[in-house]
Amino acid sequence: MDFSKIRLFLFDMDGTLYLGNNLFPFTKTLLDTIKAQGKTYLFMTNNSSKSVNDYVKKLEKLGIPAKYEDFITSSQATADYLMKNHPGLRFYVSGTESFKKELADAGVRVYVDYSDDIEGVVMGYDTELTYKKLDDVSKLLTLKDIPYIAANPDWVCPTEYGYVPDCGSVATMICNATGKNPHFIGKPRPEMPLAAMERIAKKDPLVNRDTTLVIGDRVYTDIACGVAAGIHSLLVLSGESTMKDVEESDVKPEFIMRDCSELLEKIK
Ligand SMILES: [Mg+2]
Repeated sequence: MDFSKIRLFLFDMDGTLYLGNNLFPFTKTLLDTIKAQGKTYLFMTNNSSKSVNDYVKKLEKLGIPAKYEDFITSSQATADYLMKNHPGLRFYVSGTESFKKELADAGVRVYVDYSDDIEGVVMGYDTELTYKKLDDVSKLLTLKDIPYIAANPDWVCPTEYGYVPDCGSVATMICNATGKNPHFIGKPRPEMPLAAMERIAKKDPLVNRDTTLVIGDRVYTDIACGVAAGIHSLLVLSGESTMKDVEESDVKPEFIMRDCSELLEKIK
């Protein structure tokens, strides 16, 4: 494939552009090159607990200047999905303050207490989770048959000491109580790339499925969401997935590279 035809680059972050707190040596040049060519890159993340501002700070610390518009997050994609598929509904939202604000700013009617007129439930990766929220959500899903959406399906989120339960694990807890499973947004679902393409195509009409590339280090999330969205996909071996994972996976990346320095060579 001619990588110079790609207009929109959707980058996973950890394992792709940096590892933990270490920026890869080619990342800055790669991002600068894409920008200098008049193309667009977005940082794509499943984390629905942090606000985009937290990521802006993290990237700036690593030496990458970033703005709010440079991100596509599962929170943004959830807001898009709700506005498109369930406009005007009253949603009970179990999530962090920044998640609720993100949805409310996008026009979602956000409620934080149980009431009989709630028309849907939304869940994010909630690092401010309380038993009241679990109780409210269980009651709503037990008494009503209403849309139930969760921002990201991850079981766990990495920390400096190991892992903590993420949105997918809390959803399992709720399912044990209510028998209901959410419609997940976030990787490996196609909603984030689709929302990204729609947003960027407004300023660059050359952006479409054939000129969009997702780049990531996990076959079962990054590559799977690219395949589901029908866009090009590039697996880099600089993070989690190995060639053995690719062999064992049903989902196959269109392209595989050692790391993003090879992509830089292809688009120069
Ligand atoms: Mg990654």
